[in-house]
Amino acid sequence: MSDDPILLTPGPLTTHPDTRRAMLRDWGSRDPAFIALTAELRKRLLRVANGEATHVAVPLQGSGTFIVEAAIATLVGPGQKLLVLANGAYGERMVAIARRMGRDVEALRWPEDRPVEPARVAEALRADPAVTHVALVHCETTTGILNPLAETAAVVAEAGRHFLLDAMSSFGALEIDLTAVPVAAVLASSNKCLEGVPGIGFALIEQAVLAAAEGNSPSTSLDLHAQWRGFGKDGQWRFTPPVQVVAALVEALRRLEAEGGPAARRARYQENFDTLWAGMRRLGFELYLDEAVQAPIIATFRMPADGRLEFRRFYDALAARGFLIYPGKLTQAESFRIGCIGAIGRAEFERLLRAVEEVLGKG
Ligand SMILES: *Cc1c(COP(=O)(O)O)cnc(C)c1O
Repeated sequence: MSDDPILLTPGPLTTHPDTRRAMLRDWGSRDPAFIALTAELRKRLLRVANGEATHVAVPLQGSGTFIVEAAIATLVGPGQKLLVLANGAYGERMVAIARRMGRDVEALRWPEDRPVEPARVAEALRADPAVTHVALVHCETTTGILNPLAETAAVVAEAGRHFLLDAMSSFGALEIDLTAVPVAAVLASSNKCLEGVPGIGFALIEQAVLAAAEGNSPSTSLDLHAQWRGFGKDGQWRFTPPVQVVAALVEALRRLEAEGGPAARRARYQENFDTLWAGMRRLGFELYLDEAVQAPIIATFRMPADGRLEFRRFYDALAARGFLIYPGKLTQAESFRIGCIGAIGRAEFERLLRAVEEVLGKG
């Protein structure tokens, strides 16, 4: 167990042993015990974002991209139009998904190091009355940039359009309060800030919006209206559920509550980020983003310009010391990323910094 690597990646990430232990049994997917586990899962997901009174939780088998694709297919109907606010790879992926689904879609773009600007969104919505839905990536994991959730949601609500939020790398850590911020659908997955294992995506969807979406999806398995109706009928998943992943996610959600909810988790991640950034700065590294727009989720560092570091060798040397980092995903600059999320704290980052120092020392 102690030989397991520390995953400094934005999911899959380092999970708590209790979360992994929760998977050590078999469940019958149609058995009352598993139906109860599914009900607990759906209830706890809503509670994380205060959505119990207005939204319904619809989990779906697959990774995060599956829930994004299912949500676009289900919620943006034929004849409707999606505007994607894009400042990174995950925004661009939504554009590609919508196009592939045959939906009318347009992108409003910003450079990767600039947050979305609500004023420009307001302007675009005034200029194009055909837009029915607007999608934002809360934390763009491409760089780790934080986009302005409340301000953008307010602009979209003001214009009378539906707001879709890809909260994949923020849900469970950065506050999303559905009683205060108008969001038609929040999309996230099991293996990021909730600290579960991979295999489930989920959407928290305003009940009235989902009820009106029957028959929209051109896909059978990626139909969130049908998936929701399935849970409503008998509490069961329509198709084989990843039972162990559900069990791990329920355990992870219990642990989130015990930790003190998203505010406490955010504080731990912030301490992780602060420890990491202070140490990396001391070792001569530069953060790609301005600190003012940096979320405490994942840090992008520039590759030193002097060429003394080559990613593959750096990766292998850290991996040999038990730390798995993440390649960069920028279109403009050479970089690497270090995740601050997972069941890890300051001690792991201090050990990581000693390992980085050792690797640099060996040139
Ligand atoms: C991780 C992530 C996704 C989904 O990616 P998968 O690899 O399919 O899990 C989508 N959007 C954002 C912002 C993400 O961080």
